[in-house]
Amino acid sequence: MAKGTIGVTTTNIFPVIKKFLYSDHEIFLRELVSNAVDATQKLKTLASAGEFDGKTDDLKVEVKLDKEAGTLTVTDHGIGMTAEEIDKYINQIAFSGAEEFLSKYKDTANVIIGHFGLGFYSAFMVAKKVEIHTLSYQDGAKAVCWSCDGSPEFEMGDCDKAERGTDIILHIDEDEKEFLEQSRIDALLHKYCRFLPVPVVFGKEQEWKNGKYEDTDKDKVINDVEPLWTRKPTDLTDDDYLKFYRAIQPGQEDPLFWIHLNVDFPFTLTGILYFPKIKNNLDIRKDRIQLYCNQVFVTDSVEGVVPEFLMLLQGVIDSPDIPLNVSRSYLQADRNVKKISTYITKKVASRLEEIAKNDAQEFEQKWNDIKIFIEYGMLSDEKFCEQAMKFALLENTDGKFFKLDDYKKLIEGEQTDKDGNLIYLYATDKDAQYTYIKAATDKGYDVLMMNGQLDVPFLGMLEQKNEKSRFVRVDSDVLDRLIVKEDTKQVELTEAEREVATTLFSSQIPVLDKAQFMVDLAPMAATDSPVLITQSEYMRRMKEMSQFQAGMSFYGEMPDYYNLTLNVSHPLVKKLIDDAVAATEAQLKPLNDDLNATNNVIKALRDLDKDGKGVPDDKKQDLSDNEKKAGELREQKTAVISDYAAGQQRIKQLIDIALLGNGLLKGEALDRFLKRSVELL
Ligand code: ADP
Repeated sequence: MAKGTIGVTTTNIFPVIKKFLYSDHEIFLRELVSNAVDATQKLKTLASAGEFDGKTDDLKVEVKLDKEAGTLTVTDHGIGMTAEEIDKYINQIAFSGAEEFLSKYKDTANVIIGHFGLGFYSAFMVAKKVEIHTLSYQDGAKAVCWSCDGSPEFEMGDCDKAERGTDIILHIDEDEKEFLEQSRIDALLHKYCRFLPVPVVFGKEQEWKNGKYEDTDKDKVINDVEPLWTRKPTDLTDDDYLKFYRAIQPGQEDPLFWIHLNVDFPFTLTGILYFPKIKNNLDIRKDRIQLYCNQVFVTDSVEGVVPEFLMLLQGVIDSPDIPLNVSRSYLQADRNVKKISTYITKKVASRLEEIAKNDAQEFEQKWNDIKIFIEYGMLSDEKFCEQAMKFALLENTDGKFFKLDDYKKLIEGEQTDKDGNLIYLYATDKDAQYTYIKAATDKGYDVLMMNGQLDVPFLGMLEQKNEKSRFVRVDSDVLDRLIVKEDTKQVELTEAEREVATTLFSSQIPVLDKAQFMVDLAPMAATDSPVLITQSEYMRRMKEMSQFQAGMSFYGEMPDYYNLTLNVSHPLVKKLIDDAVAATEAQLKPLNDDLNATNNVIKALRDLDKDGKGVPDDKKQDLSDNEKKAGELREQKTAVISDYAAGQQRIKQLIDIALLGNGLLKGEALDRFLKRSVELL
């Protein structure tokens, strides 16, 4: 046998291969089986080009284990190699044979895997010695044997292999014994070779006989040579797609629908993406889409190849145009990958648009399952958003669905305010906000349901995209102030009456955890609720958004601020205020007189500060004494009103009813309310 040195520049590349080339040793099997499939495909290509006239339709690749000999063998019946070819493709390892072959058979050879670079040498990650026995398909070719024990020296010479094709024999390393286990190899073939285009045989089919499983004579083919994504969509039924889904995602609920991707320009890409049922759970698992290169499994970590929101989908993508053995950051910067990502996004959007158009009812039915995905896509991808504007739906509290444009037309008439702003009303909880929803619908307004996990950021985005439109929750203010039709009616109360009214109620609000209230007065209809609790849209949204954005957590820590709005047109409220004014008048009068006089003194003293240098030194004490006095007088006034209010069960009752209507009355406060209600009866 002749000896030679493998043509690499470093003296010993194997330690490098072993340690650094691939972190996963297991992929050697993918590389070798792919090479075998590759050699088989090449023979088929030659046959179809008329350069080989043997039979090519029953070609298969075999993987065999011999535990005793400690070997794993991959056998194919493909084109084989001549001594020159081994020299060129194996010995000169920097040279990738696929490239030359591809340039020669450009048009037909696109099925050939040319991506794996140092593929063959990955065998040395797990083997202490590798042998090649090969016989080329060429007329008069001589069989060649090559072996190498992991040093840069190899042996090569003639041998007597009679069958065309190649055996790659790996003498498995002591440290890598796991690769001599049938179950391990089974699992690896299932992972990497499950959809290879040439039958791969590993062992025999088994049958149940004499109380145990026994081998039959039938070869066990581990792969599906024509996986669904390689077939024409027109030849496939829904059942085919569902079956395939169950095979790749076992144990999952059936998907809602799917997209069959198929493109050959400006890059080649096929695949099937399924829409799984996603409820309110945005868990992005990064292993749901499997990436293949000419039916060879590459990875299930598709970050960078598909946009993040598409990672909620499941399925397979197959493209020879994705560079495979490169780092992830390189992948993300790769122009082809960017194009692919854009293409997939576009395709997903058009498919959704198509379903929404052709099968509106089905789309509506499934909307709540896919809405989180679509909203996520719209929020994170400008291009997708543009397309999705055409098919995204809004649902109202009656369960009716509308396209964005249609909804706009629906509410334009009624819900445009005096400044031309279009006000979208929404609710997040049909039961809890029932009173507010009813008040709005009674008025002829429409109320949307917005209870999805991404609805808040989503409506924020819609506001940004549509000028002069605002979303407000039905309970964020008094209806007339949410959609202001004409200049608001003024509250017809004197300053003194306002003061009494405000303190009357604010002094009786129970202390609640993490909630603060401001009393405010509004002239609503006499038939509206006497007391209404609302929460400012702005504050609530800030709090809700703080869940999504880093650096906003302080909003989450803040208490909830509510408005307790008194309907001063309501007879009951009116009477309570009138009674309070009458009852406290005598006590308040001297206090008010005193306060007015004190305020006059304060004003006169402050007026002494003409040039902004401050009150003269000899007047400072005087001013501070009077300010203190005014503060005390105000406190006394508050005390008078609060004392009176404390004896008015109906005030507490009104407040509690309003709190109860908002689900805010709990614990001790609720208990007191119940007892008081019985007393009042
Ligand atoms: P790549 O497959 O990326 O070209 P490899 O190191 O895996 O890199 O293989 C180098 C070359 O060796 C291949 O391009 C091919 O020409 C040849 N080769 C490898 N395995 C086989 C095989 N089983 N049958 C025929 N030729 C093979």
